[in-house]
Amino acid sequence: MAKQLYNQPSPLETRVVSKNFAVEGSETLDVYLANDGYKAFRKAKEMTPEAIVEEVKASALRGRGGAGFPTGLKWSFVPRNSPKPRVIVVNADESEPGTCKDRLLMEYDPHQMIEGILIAGLAVDAHVGYIYIRGEYRYLIEVMDRAIDEAYAKGYLGKNVAGTGFQFDLYTHSGAGAYECGEETALLDSIEGKRGIPRMKPPFPAVAGAWALPTLLNNVETFSAIPAIIRDGGAAFAALGTPKNGGTRLVCISGHVNKPGVYELPLGYPMMKAINEVAGGIPGGKKLKAVVPGGSSCPILKADECDIPMDYDTLAKVGSMLGSGGMVVLDESTDMVRFALRIMKFYAHESCGWCIPCREGTTWLKKILQRFYEGQGRREDISLLGELSKNMLGRTFCALGDAAALPTISIVEKFTEDFEVYLARQEVLV
Ligand code: SF4
Repeated sequence: MAKQLYNQPSPLETRVVSKNFAVEGSETLDVYLANDGYKAFRKAKEMTPEAIVEEVKASALRGRGGAGFPTGLKWSFVPRNSPKPRVIVVNADESEPGTCKDRLLMEYDPHQMIEGILIAGLAVDAHVGYIYIRGEYRYLIEVMDRAIDEAYAKGYLGKNVAGTGFQFDLYTHSGAGAYECGEETALLDSIEGKRGIPRMKPPFPAVAGAWALPTLLNNVETFSAIPAIIRDGGAAFAALGTPKNGGTRLVCISGHVNKPGVYELPLGYPMMKAINEVAGGIPGGKKLKAVVPGGSSCPILKADECDIPMDYDTLAKVGSMLGSGGMVVLDESTDMVRFALRIMKFYAHESCGWCIPCREGTTWLKKILQRFYEGQGRREDISLLGELSKNMLGRTFCALGDAAALPTISIVEKFTEDFEVYLARQEVLV
């Protein structure tokens, strides 16, 4: 029986990190080795650590977890010559609503990520790594543990990786289902066995991360892109995207489209083409109303703002973010009040409660939106939602406060008429 994929690949994709997804047995080391596996590691072993970092810089790869920080630059911050041992940590706490691509990278091609981790180990002279997997992805811990066991058994982890004399040990670590633990320093506390709340920065993890050791921390997709970058060269990867936005990325297209799925597209790919051609357009001939471009934390775009290339810089110019690659398409039938409420229920639930603007702000935003949704809204609540959200911005300890405020501000400002509909309905009932 042919391999079952979550969605069929599109001929419009540029497959780099997902090139093996459809290959039978792609989760096994033998299939990985038969498809260019470990060529990059062997090449990297012959390079100096500085040359590896330069190659990653040349690729213009930006962190695929959400922040989009240049990966090569981040690697260069890890002090190779520190007397303390270095640690690699993989952020596999994929929890951003709308985002579901790291799970595919681990399920379909775990050895690609392991090879990326090993190359990072060469670059910063680290010999141990931890993969922090979100609690809800429990089945993936088994997948990754199987891949790690196979790599040890066949000599691709342990004392003598691929017969090169390089030593590296790799472990999985389960989260407990807290969105907050996707924040890198909360994740590090969680790995250390503490409650996952963010740390004060600086020091940044590169200098004092897990157990206060210099730590290189990247997302699953970021590590998975490394083998192709080293194998084919940073310039070749960069050329797939746009300047400062190198390569491809996995875009999770969900919501009102005919063919929801995870598609690998070059940076700079036209958003409307992704919706209409890659994802098959909107069902029932309905019109586009809005797009969440990169996960629920991103400011929402109106339909007339979506005729843009999808890269970090363009999204920033239109006041939003490329985020974690979770694109949610909303058609004209979408009730934006209900949508805002759904998002806020999530953030109010996930706020760790440590700082007041986030703990109280998300709770009050949820209450006001709930009031509106139940037909008890007041006209002044519309501006109150905007005001409250703006007061949260930049005043919280970690980015969760902003993540809750930003989409709310954009919904209130761009879709005021949806709130008006609720008020008009109430007037009729009175
Ligand atoms: Fe916790 Fe929210 Fe403050 Fe972040 S912003 S530390 S999630 S209360």
